[in-house]
Amino acid sequence: MVDRLVNSEANARRIAMVENCFGGSGQPLAVPGRVLVGEGVLTKMCRKKPKPRQFFLFNDILVYGNIVINKKKYNKQHIIPLEEVKLESLADEGQYRNGWLIKTVTKSFAVYAATPTEKQEWMAHITKCIEDLLRKSGKKPVEVHAAVWVPDNEATICMHCNKTQFTVLNRRHHCRQCGAVVCGPCSNKKLLLPGQGNGKAVRVCLQCYDAASKIKAIPTTAVDSLNNKDPQRNSADSSGGDSSGDDDDGNKEENHDEPKFYSTLGR
Ligand SMILES: [Zn+2]
Ligand SMILES: [Zn+2]
Repeated sequence: MVDRLVNSEANARRIAMVENCFGGSGQPLAVPGRVLVGEGVLTKMCRKKPKPRQFFLFNDILVYGNIVINKKKYNKQHIIPLEEVKLESLADEGQYRNGWLIKTVTKSFAVYAATPTEKQEWMAHITKCIEDLLRKSGKKPVEVHAAVWVPDNEATICMHCNKTQFTVLNRRHHCRQCGAVVCGPCSNKKLLLPGQGNGKAVRVCLQCYDAASKIKAIPTTAVDSLNNKDPQRNSADSSGGDSSGDDDDGNKEENHDEPKFYSTLGR
């Protein structure tokens, strides 16, 4: 039960510890009513490849960062408001097991736990936090979520024209609407998408552009599993420090610790 933890000393101590590990690179996290629900390492699908990231689940936000020194120092802090999060379980596929999508308005990405049990625990706790939050605020779940980007290495040719071969010169681009990897000429149009680009139009593929031109309401399509959305490094799309730098190699170690949850799922 989260409520039991709200004013507990243990909770305050844990949150101070998280703040400490992020040091000056992170936001203050101690806020009245906030509870650290759980923490652990998850493998996050980044633009190039999956990378281990330290995750902290609070009752209102999900925080993650690069691991500099395990359990001691983290950086590149990202904060996701749980109110806008939607989870979607992924089927196991080859080396990608125990995964699910974390979809938000500004970014969506896949994460993978070490075991099926850990996946279940994480998903149950996150879902519970979202439900409690929405019940308290009386808000409706957010319906529109950012596309999950297809990882770079899954496309050697443009997914729109099926012709352009990607090279150092023919760079890959991601459609912000469907997440497809496309070539420059196939993504030379822009659209205003909710939650993305800070009010500026963002890059989309010609297919999404045409579809949006035909109907006023912009459809939201998410490509299926194994996709990936990574912060847009070159764009002005930095939503509260929740952008860029996520792709950097923070560490090389991958020793596994089981996640810790401080709250039970009982009501
Ligand atoms: Zn193309
Ligand atoms: Zn598209």
